[in-house]
Amino acid sequence: MSNFNIMVVYPHPADSATEASGTVALHAERGDRITSVVVTDGDRHHMQWLHDEMEKPESERDPDVDDMTLADYRGFKRRETERIADVLGVSELITLGWTDHEIYFDLDKVNEIADIIRRVRPDILITHLPVDAGPSPNDHPITGKIVMKALETASNRVPQFDGVHPYHGVKQTFFSFASGEEANSNSFLTPGIVPDVWVDITPVIHKKIQAMDQLVSQGYHGETARWIAEARDGRWGMLAGCAYAEPFLRPTAVTYDSLPIPERVLRAEYEPTVMHSGRSTAHRVPSATPPEAFRLKP
Ligand SMILES: [Zn+2]
Repeated sequence: MSNFNIMVVYPHPADSATEASGTVALHAERGDRITSVVVTDGDRHHMQWLHDEMEKPESERDPDVDDMTLADYRGFKRRETERIADVLGVSELITLGWTDHEIYFDLDKVNEIADIIRRVRPDILITHLPVDAGPSPNDHPITGKIVMKALETASNRVPQFDGVHPYHGVKQTFFSFASGEEANSNSFLTPGIVPDVWVDITPVIHKKIQAMDQLVSQGYHGETARWIAEARDGRWGMLAGCAYAEPFLRPTAVTYDSLPIPERVLRAEYEPTVMHSGRSTAHRVPSATPPEAFRLKP
């Protein structure tokens, strides 16, 4: 099988570690090219490190915290984003510096993503499910909507009057999930959002955990990363019939030449109880948080 050119777009650094990060790590190991686009620095939410520093007596606090600027904190978050990309084997990281928690759908943002699509020329696109049922506009589904409109824009260019060539190369888009719109079942007969693709990320769960280990700003490192992996990826794994899994939905149904029966479905053998034995355990993954992750400035 030839290699894929995969582009992944998320609103926040943390999403690049917690959403389709296992799938990204698997494809990077296969030698596929991964471009990770993180549109904000995530500098307005989950300020766990800042909260913890301010709780400390002044003598124990990071000396740079008291006169910290937005640029300092963005630098701190940007280094986390870079370390996450390194852990996952991302080929190219693109950060756009949009304002965190203020992502609204507008044409400038659509065009910015469309330009990246035309330059990167991905075969596969991964972004957050563009469905928003919440009480106020949320960065995650809006980013998904911006990406889908950018895909349409990139394919609708006419060189004679737009001065750029159209790009029609994206063969498949996959929408990923986080927590707000939880995958609730593995049966299409269940109401609500049901994924139509599961990826077994058991072989790379250590990379997903160690990517989360970089998010000291949000307190995701250490036990929290392992809890997220067991509670969420492990729960999805239970639904999907493996230890750890990531759920996806495709925008439209897929046509096959004949009935699709993957090799692992053919190989599956009857088990009276799906046991844990022989599967990896998130709690055994060693920490990958470097000492500098706890300091505001490099
Ligand atoms: Zn997020």
